[in-house]
Amino acid sequence: MSRIVFVNGSFVPYEEARIPIMDRGFLFGDGIYEVSAVLGGKLIDNEAHLARLERSLGEIQIRNPYPAEKWIELEKEIVRRNGLQEGLVYMQVTRGVAERDFAFPKDVEPTVVMFTQEKNMRAAPAAQKGAAVITVPDLRWKRRDIKSVALLAQVLAKQAAAEAGVAEAWMVEDGKVTEGGSSTSFIITRDGTIVTRQLSTALLPGITRKTVIRLAQEAQLRVEERAFSVEEALDAQEAFLTSATSLVLPVVSIDGKPVGDGKVGPMVRRLRELYLDMADATPA
Ligand code: PMP
Repeated sequence: MSRIVFVNGSFVPYEEARIPIMDRGFLFGDGIYEVSAVLGGKLIDNEAHLARLERSLGEIQIRNPYPAEKWIELEKEIVRRNGLQEGLVYMQVTRGVAERDFAFPKDVEPTVVMFTQEKNMRAAPAAQKGAAVITVPDLRWKRRDIKSVALLAQVLAKQAAAEAGVAEAWMVEDGKVTEGGSSTSFIITRDGTIVTRQLSTALLPGITRKTVIRLAQEAQLRVEERAFSVEEALDAQEAFLTSATSLVLPVVSIDGKPVGDGKVGPMVRRLRELYLDMADATPA
């Protein structure tokens, strides 16, 4: 089956998809995106992702081209057309195409692009072995709550991780971990408290973060939303990261030093299972 993507209202073969060079997403990074995971052919936590897409658009004053029901219909259609069982649906909206000028152009239609990617999520090797991370300075702008397509700082952070042979980079600002290059950071302290940074403009409000906090609280686990330092993370019992497509992923070392005993711990295992149970219980 050839890959089918979505561009401005049409499903087309990937080879035929075209965006004009004056697209403001290309010229300015003037756009936002969203990623929903697909497990067992079903979209996971999708309504929350669409709500965040709506919010990101609102924050940069781009009209949401579709109501949520239409987005869901398009997502299901692209999943179906690509026969996707496990992976993700990527959605991007930019301000549109106009002669290059910084201020918003008048009367432009937003550009909408969607595609799917296959990804081995449930049986990802790092879920069993645990992932290593490095720390890097957080070089980003001050509105990280907006899921902007301008991702150069994350590209550099994740390239550093790739060169170090690890899965993710944890970005650090003022001595505290903000979040991963494309994930939310968590630790579990020696007294069993799950700690993740409180929401603010300093980080993306992770959808998986929110669900994991809810599932943890429902399981009577203690959750604290506050910033933590790299030293505290290294002193923690367990650590993990979350994202739509990593789900809950154990972190077993930071900058080459082990977290806890350097093995995947029982609480992270349990949280991953709770998340997968939630995904399995999601209606089609
Ligand atoms: N933080 C950043 C910077 C991210 O790019 C992502 C992935 N989109 C996340 C956190 C995790 O968010 P989510 O759980 O909604 O995928």
